Amino acid sequence: DLGRPGSALAPAVILFGSPGSGKGTQAKLLKRCLDGPHISTGDMLRTHIEAGDTIGRESEGVIRSGRLVSDELVNELVEQRIQQLDCCSGMILDGYPRTLNQAGVLLNLMQRLGFRPAVVYLIVDHERIVRRLSGRRQCPVCGTLYSLKTNPPKVAGVCDLDGTTLVTRDDDRESVIRARLEEYELQTRPLLDFFRKAGVSIFEIKGASRTPEEIANEICSELANAGAIQPGLSQRGTAVPNASV
Ligand code: ADP
Repeated sequence: DLGRPGSALAPAVILFGSPGSGKGTQAKLLKRCLDGPHISTGDMLRTHIEAGDTIGRESEGVIRSGRLVSDELVNELVEQRIQQLDCCSGMILDGYPRTLNQAGVLLNLMQRLGFRPAVVYLIVDHERIVRRLSGRRQCPVCGTLYSLKTNPPKVAGVCDLDGTTLVTRDDDRESVIRARLEEYELQTRPLLDFFRKAGVSIFEIKGASRTPEEIANEICSELANAGAIQPGLSQRGTAVPNASV
């Protein structure tokens, strides 16, 4: 029991899309309309790698090669994470699920724990994905993502938020990018069909040619209009058009 008041199901927003489609960026922005933590399996795994623990040692090589770590490992991480109290009013999932096995496990968990899943599918063309990923930099401390071309930090090479020196992720190298895109096509894209058949709402969002802010506003209003999140919270982020005509 997560101690939620009433019987309303809390939203679990699943950010879906190719590597480089903007899931991490949107996850951070969506806090404006969704009350709950940003759960990124990629960030969780990188934290384990930095800590040098068993999970980190087990996943490091796989991540460096652009392949997916085992379903058992990530399922276990997510199962533990989403039962923590900060998830009780909702959550944003980024980078999970990525395989049919993970999707099945997640939907079972959602049902058991009383969450309502909604998929936000960020559509971005292949060319742009490769350009984005190879120009990407990340703050190793707070996880904020920058793009050298479209979203550079104010001071070159330094995080706007905490001044940490930005890094290129090991797996943002060109050859590894190709492997990650291949994994996405083979293992992850088929999940869309799985979600459709399972009756999970899918919100298709054009993830390019607008600013991240504008995209986040669109996501918030689409989710609120469909009743997938509470409209009250959305208004904080100016996402929902005023109803008074
Ligand atoms: P991106 O979405 O940009 O590829 P992530 O930070 O989500 O980056 O993931 C980085 C790497 O971590 C993946 O290439 C994969 O090796 C591993 N990983 C993250 N999430 C999962 C998952 N749900 N299942 C298996 N491997 C994962």
